[in-house]
Amino acid sequence: MSATARPLLPGEATLGVLGGGQLGRMFVHAAQRLGYTTVVLDPDEASPAGQVAHEHVRADYLDAAALARLAERCDALTTEFENVPADALATLAAQRPVAPGASAVAVCQDRRLEKAHFRASGVPCAPYAEITQEQDLAVEASLLPGILKTARLGYDGKGQVPVATPEELRAAWERLGRVPCVLERRLDLAFEISVIVARNAHGEVVHFPVQQNLHRGGILAVTTVPAPQASPAQQMQAVQAAEAIAASLGYVGVLCVEFFVLADGSLVANEMAPRPHNSGHYTIDACDLSQFDLQVRAMTGLPLVTPRQHSPAIMLNLLGDLWQTPAGPRTPAWDAVLALAGTHLHLYGKTEARPGRKMGHLNVTAATPEDARAVALRCAELLG
Ligand code: ADP
Ligand code: MG
Repeated sequence: MSATARPLLPGEATLGVLGGGQLGRMFVHAAQRLGYTTVVLDPDEASPAGQVAHEHVRADYLDAAALARLAERCDALTTEFENVPADALATLAAQRPVAPGASAVAVCQDRRLEKAHFRASGVPCAPYAEITQEQDLAVEASLLPGILKTARLGYDGKGQVPVATPEELRAAWERLGRVPCVLERRLDLAFEISVIVARNAHGEVVHFPVQQNLHRGGILAVTTVPAPQASPAQQMQAVQAAEAIAASLGYVGVLCVEFFVLADGSLVANEMAPRPHNSGHYTIDACDLSQFDLQVRAMTGLPLVTPRQHSPAIMLNLLGDLWQTPAGPRTPAWDAVLALAGTHLHLYGKTEARPGRKMGHLNVTAATPEDARAVALRCAELLG
């Protein structure tokens, strides 16, 4: 079923989300602010979104009874997790509007389809080769040194192995279990940016400002907006590329496209996410509409309005490592952080603080980028 002809008006409808992580939790918050009833599907008893939704259906994503319950309960559905089986979305879409659609999500689930789609949309990506069978290991020398990435199910740098030689490539592929992979040339990155767009069923599209992202160990660590290093021309190019990618997918919903900016100033698309994105969390406190507000608007057919950033912002991801010291577990010094003007703490309700686990984020807003940076540095010291 395609998008609703008539908007689902606030206060009158029930919205469902597949996946109960932090993205689902922030979607639920945005939907509830507008008076929508919310339902979350997630197998985890303690899922961050399940804790705050009106109803938490605790079941596997392909559980037939759970999908039937969702279709019965919800007027429209979305996803917060790109690895929700596309079959689950397709099953629901036969009964209720689902945004984004299963076919768009399927493209984002597989790096091979994703890269082919970038190219088909006229957007360059890193040189790569598909590795699905033994003979594929004989790659062109120009792809080494490279990064071998599993085609499916990778996130936060997981499922990736740097490889410098043909021997390392073979060993890495064996280690990853000989699953379908792509080998990407390791590029010399000047910096990384991302763009979040929202598109509705009429093809109208709006975008957030371009974010600059710093990763540590393959995990997003810091997002800064406005992007300090990206020129206006690079920003325009990134926005146009993201819009072209969304349009050629016939996309409905919120889509994030990550880009590498190379030393020569050129842009290549890295990957995309068919949902709100970690690099867009600053929008909650720094823009008049957040990425989650636009997810609600896109799926309900409410008007999309171009969001305006009212404050420069820096987002710091809060990983589980912050809860650990050599002497044992601790609670980070939130009181000291919250004593600083312009700090906004978001914790996701996860009880177990494992290293590398996304526990929350801290948005810092200020009158100027310099002030935001000074406060963010102070926060990092206090938390460090
Ligand atoms: P994930 O799905 O884990 O986010 P990415 O493909 O986005 O995987 O890779 C994570 C990070 O690793 C990127 O943001 C970038 O910092 C680095 N990286 C990935 N691919 C390359 C590449 N081809 N060249 C240089 N750095 C890369
Ligand atoms: Mg990434």
